Amino acid sequence: MNIFEDLKSILGEENVFVNEPMNKHTTFRIGGKADFLVCPKNIENVKDIISYLSDNSINYYVIGNGSNLLVKDNGFRGVIVKLFKDFSKVDVDGCLIKAEAGATLSAVAKKAMQSSLAGMECLSGIPGTIGGAICMNAGAYGGEIKDIVKDITVLENGVIKKLTKDEAEFSYRNSKIMREKMVVLEVVLELEKGNKEEIQEKMKLLMAQRNEKQPVNLPSAGSTFKRPEGYFAAKLIDDCGLRGFSVGDAEVSKKHCGFVVNNKNASACDVLKLMEIVSKKVKDEFGVLLEPEVRIIGE
Ligand SMILES: Cc1cc2nc3c(=O)[nH]c(=O)nc-3n(C[C@H](O)[C@H](O)[C@H](O)COP(=O)(O)OP(=O)(O)OC[C@H]3O[C@@H](n4cnc5c(N)ncnc54)[C@H](O)[C@@H]3O)c2cc1C
Repeated sequence: MNIFEDLKSILGEENVFVNEPMNKHTTFRIGGKADFLVCPKNIENVKDIISYLSDNSINYYVIGNGSNLLVKDNGFRGVIVKLFKDFSKVDVDGCLIKAEAGATLSAVAKKAMQSSLAGMECLSGIPGTIGGAICMNAGAYGGEIKDIVKDITVLENGVIKKLTKDEAEFSYRNSKIMREKMVVLEVVLELEKGNKEEIQEKMKLLMAQRNEKQPVNLPSAGSTFKRPEGYFAAKLIDDCGLRGFSVGDAEVSKKHCGFVVNNKNASACDVLKLMEIVSKKVKDEFGVLLEPEVRIIGE
């Protein structure tokens, strides 16, 4: 079996990348090389490629914008399947928005605003794709994507099927899609008629809040840890005196202690070491367990 030849014949040479540095595909700007990275162009492509990988027991991992992802320094053995720009059609039909998995939340929110549809404002500043957001049940400012989901088209064990919101079993930063490694292909969101100017205003306001409170000028993967029940991770970390604490170029953001930022040349090893120290200190001082929100893959 020649994996490269097979991938090329399924997707075309221009959509297959060999020994691809993953720091180019993560907002952390960290990560060793993936053996292969492929960019499917449509649902048929995804179905064909996932069937090929599954049938041949080839390790794979689906990503969107890599905005919640830490790839380890020795890279990823197998195939990264990236559903992003070429997979980003968004259609509006009344109060429904159908978006392909690679559409960014900001693009979908903009389309919603232009169509006077309210309900996506709180998610509009999250720098991920709809596929990643569904997998993670992304949320911000009191809303989660599950609040506006009508149905989701997924690929599971080679079969394309629709899941209702209930069937997706969303919970805090979790879903059945994540647990069972389904691939999100398309999502239908159900929004409400609203006032275009008000929607735009709200989006601007929330974006300004993000820019003010978050280290948006440095590479990161957003909140490093999930919110432990009854606490805020950032406050616990700050109360341990870890604001600005660093390992190599990985640093607990001085602006927002919930974020680990890459100051320049942080390795995944630096980030993981920093996360370990932070978790241990918080556990020792407050007895609270911090669980990573960022997804960690590779060797
Ligand atoms: C500055 C900054 C701010 C952030 N703010 C927030 C925030 O306010 N709220 C929040 O929830 N998150 C936030 N995040 C984290 C991140 O943007 C979200 O988790 C986002 O939904 C991830 O989308 P992605 O396309 O980048 O997914 P990726 O990082 O590429 O992948 C994340 C997970 O989703 C899976 N996945 C991706 N695409 C698919 C698909 N098509 N089918 C199946 N699984 C898929 C991956 O396998 C992985 O497990 C922030 C990140 C940054 C860098």
